[in-house]
Amino acid sequence: MSDYHQAICPLCGKSSTSFWATARDIEYFTPTGTFDFRRCEACDVLFITPMLRDALQTIYPKNYYSFVGQKPSLVQRIKQALDRHAFRAVSAKIPGQDLAALDVGGGSGWLLDQLRLVDNRFTYTCVVDIDARAGTLAEAAGHGFALGSIESFSANRPFDLIFMLNLIEHVADPGSVLCKAADMLSPDGRLFLKTPNFDALDARLFRHRSWGGLHTPRHFVLFTRESLVELCRRSGLEVVSFNYTQGAPFWSVSTLDFLRRMGLVKVDAEHPAITHPLIPFLQAMFAAFDFIRRPFAKLSQMELVLRKA
Ligand SMILES: [Zn+2]
Repeated sequence: MSDYHQAICPLCGKSSTSFWATARDIEYFTPTGTFDFRRCEACDVLFITPMLRDALQTIYPKNYYSFVGQKPSLVQRIKQALDRHAFRAVSAKIPGQDLAALDVGGGSGWLLDQLRLVDNRFTYTCVVDIDARAGTLAEAAGHGFALGSIESFSANRPFDLIFMLNLIEHVADPGSVLCKAADMLSPDGRLFLKTPNFDALDARLFRHRSWGGLHTPRHFVLFTRESLVELCRRSGLEVVSFNYTQGAPFWSVSTLDFLRRMGLVKVDAEHPAITHPLIPFLQAMFAAFDFIRRPFAKLSQMELVLRKA
C-alpha cells in the first residue's frame, strides 16, 4: 500500500514530479477525503495520489452514472446521433465481413447498439465491465459480456474495432492497457479512444477547485495531446486521426460545484451532480461554447482513432 502514496510517476516510475492541485470528489461525495494530483515533468501526465486501485467498490458508488440504465434525454439523443456519425466514418475504413467490436467499460452496451445501427457487418459485439448489473442488460441486447477489468480480460479472438471511451484515465497502468489493445486489434482494426485533456481552459480555471475532468478519485492518470500520442506510440499504436472535442461534462460539474459552494444548489452523496436538474442545461450551454471554440482552442476532451503501428 505504501508505494501508492509516494510521488512516483505510474508511467516512468521516476520521482521527479511536482504538485499540481489538491482535489476531492465533487460529484458523488464518496467518503474518500482529499487527493493530490502530481505532474511528471518527463511524461507530462497528471496522476492521483493516493491511487485507490484496490478500492473500486468505494470509489464507484452504486449510483455511479454508467451503471444506471435510464431513458436517454434530448442531449443524450443528440450525442448518440453524433456518435453514430463518428462511428460510420471509422467503420467505413475497416474492410471485411463478420466484424467484431469490443467496448471496454461499455456498461449496458448502448454504444455497440449504435455501432450495429450504422454498420451491420458487426456480427459479434462484446462488453467488458466491472458492473454485473450492466451485464444483464448487455446480454439482453445481444452483446457478449465479460465481467471484470480490462487488465484481467482475455480475448479469444481479434477485434476490428475497440472502444475505450473515457477508460484509459481510470486505469493504474495505461501503457500496459494500450499495449493490450494493440495486441487485440485485427491487422486493419481500429482503436477509438477518448480521454480528458488537462491542457485546456476549464482545467486552468478550475485547477484548484477540483476540476470536473479530474473526476476525483476515479481518474488515475491524465494526459495532454503530446503525452497521450507518445504513450500510444510506445504501446505499438499509430494515430490515424486526432480531434479535440467538447468538455461539457467537466465544465458542468465544475460550475455546479461552484454554485454549491455559494450555497445556491444542493449536491451530496444522495444527490450526485449528474442527477441535478441544472446539469442538462449546463451541458447544452457548455457544449455550444466549446463547439464555437473548437476551431482554435484545445478543448478538454480528446478523441483519437488508432491502429497497430
Ligand atoms: Zn513519468
